[in-house]
Amino acid sequence: MSPTRQSSEAMLQALRSQVNADPHHAQARALWTIEDSEELYRIHGWGEPYFSINAAGHVMVAPKGDRGGSLDLYDLVTALKQRNLGLPILIRFSDILEDRIERLNACFAKAIARYRYSGVYRGVFPVKCNQQRHLVEDLVRFGQPHRFGLEAGSKPELLIALATLDNPGALLICNGYKDREYVETAMLSQRLGHTPIIVLEQLEEVPLVIEASRRLNIRPILGVRAKLSSKGIGRWGGSAGDRAKFGLAIPEVLSAVEQLKAADMLDCLQLLHFHIGSQISAISVIKDALREACQIYVELSELGAQMGYLDVGGGLGVDYDGSKTNFSASKNYSIQNYANDVVAEVQEACSARNLPVPTLISESGRAIASHQSVLVFDVLGTSDRPGLEAIEPPTEDDHALLRELYDTYAHVTIKNYQEAYHDAVQFKDEAISLFNFGYLSLTERAKVERLYWACCRRILELVRHEEYVPDDLEDLDKNLASIYYINLSVFQSMPDAWAIDQLFPIMPIHRLDEEPTNRATLADLTCDSDGKIEQFIDLRDVKSVLELHPLKEQEPYYLGLFLGGAYQEIMGNLHNLFGDTNTVHIHMTPKGYQIEHVVKGDTMTEVLSYVQYDSEDLIENIRRRSEYALQDGKITIQEAQLLLQHYEHSLNHYTYLSTD
Ligand SMILES: *Cc1c(COP(=O)(O)O)cnc(C)c1O
Repeated sequence: MSPTRQSSEAMLQALRSQVNADPHHAQARALWTIEDSEELYRIHGWGEPYFSINAAGHVMVAPKGDRGGSLDLYDLVTALKQRNLGLPILIRFSDILEDRIERLNACFAKAIARYRYSGVYRGVFPVKCNQQRHLVEDLVRFGQPHRFGLEAGSKPELLIALATLDNPGALLICNGYKDREYVETAMLSQRLGHTPIIVLEQLEEVPLVIEASRRLNIRPILGVRAKLSSKGIGRWGGSAGDRAKFGLAIPEVLSAVEQLKAADMLDCLQLLHFHIGSQISAISVIKDALREACQIYVELSELGAQMGYLDVGGGLGVDYDGSKTNFSASKNYSIQNYANDVVAEVQEACSARNLPVPTLISESGRAIASHQSVLVFDVLGTSDRPGLEAIEPPTEDDHALLRELYDTYAHVTIKNYQEAYHDAVQFKDEAISLFNFGYLSLTERAKVERLYWACCRRILELVRHEEYVPDDLEDLDKNLASIYYINLSVFQSMPDAWAIDQLFPIMPIHRLDEEPTNRATLADLTCDSDGKIEQFIDLRDVKSVLELHPLKEQEPYYLGLFLGGAYQEIMGNLHNLFGDTNTVHIHMTPKGYQIEHVVKGDTMTEVLSYVQYDSEDLIENIRRRSEYALQDGKITIQEAQLLLQHYEHSLNHYTYLSTD
């Protein structure tokens, strides 16, 4: 490094720490750039090509990906609020959905051309991933050029698929547990021009299908779901393997073949299906499964089934942390790699046996639906950050313990910080014992605790830049973080963050040209201590705090949760009776954007009706009580009016807090 470079670097460093000491210093803005925010929140890693940061320091959305057109997310939220759509709000970008479908199909088309595969790809969308009507309708429309179909995993989903799918040539894959009505409904839909494929998941379904076919005189297309012995990976690894919940083990597959043959229906068996779990983070796992499935496929052909379809299930991953690794929140392959491997593997297995290649099907849900929605929510307030108050040196009158602790605090260095930390912990524990026995006043205890946190903060500042941090200090960051209270229910809007520790990218959608000087964890509106977020994406592993900006007076602070478009909506629950959020659909037009649908979130009347309360009865009850209280002179008429007004207004409004 040249001497001039070094000195300017040192100057910058000095300036930075000076500025950091005063986050409101005007120069904080000048030194922090949007590039710093890009790197900090890793938006390129997980967001490309849809999300980025613009010169104003706001998140930009390019719903058509590389094909042009973008909007400022902060401005959009402001515009929605002007239309009386309060936060939290779920914003769906239908163009992103279209782009995902285009991308998946383009990757398969490219792979098919590259390997001169003589078959075609006919993807299907697993409805369970997001059943919302507007989304499924969009999906069917966008899928038309590709004959993209739907996959149903239950009877209600079958009903959606039957009524919504209208792409000639698109497939309707019928998975899940089936009864006679399910099977007959699927078969009869052939008469409407659908191409249902009934996938046998349980041996009991074989006689069911044979009888239905005879009764209705319809020859169905059948598939079998094989229980592969190739193991999945990660959270959903148990979807494959001998103990998997679904699918036929190999002896059962053979039994199904025998039964179909005896019923003269072996020609109906045309599809092999497997699904090794969701969010497969390693491409090697997919390849192993493919190899096994291809062998089963060719063997079934040789047994006389008229095989023509291979359905590789779901599992195509989403890179939530943008690290491109085989970490559970990431994936070490692209959609193109995935398509190439599927096509090449099947091609090779079929040509080795001189068999015609099948139509390829994938049931990618997460990879199609995750990116299209963004949940924007506001911060209601923050807790004090411990250890930031000014510390006065103790006087002669202070307790000896306090003086000793101050001594530790005053002499923390990079050499002794670990020892200093243990001393501080011990002093604090002693203080609590003394307090419990009545030897320390409440004021003294408060002083000790304040000093303890100041000491921890000093240690944290020292170790933050160290390569190696001793295990016992790892929680310091979290313990010293602020808590940001968010206008949201984790249980309703990101249930997987609670249930299975799933990571989603979360970041401010504005002020990205300002340094986020606070480190925070998030706490939601519910009265449940699980309703919090304390794990955030990071390049390596996860981090326990998120860098956020200090709140400004009279200015809202908006955070965005990204990549949550799959599974979260339907799995969300009504814990504490926080209902569905407001939802809008945004579609890009040559002039900008257009709000296509507005789905208002639940009102209190609605959530209360889910638990069998009738709002009229509730109001009547309050009215009656007010009258009694009036008679007894316990309430004034004005107070009674105000109470009833609030009560009725609440019933007709959003379950979340209003900050306007
Ligand atoms: C859930 C599921 C899918 C979708 O999986 P993704 O990982 O979201 O792509 C596909 N097929 C079956 C049978 C499923 O159960």
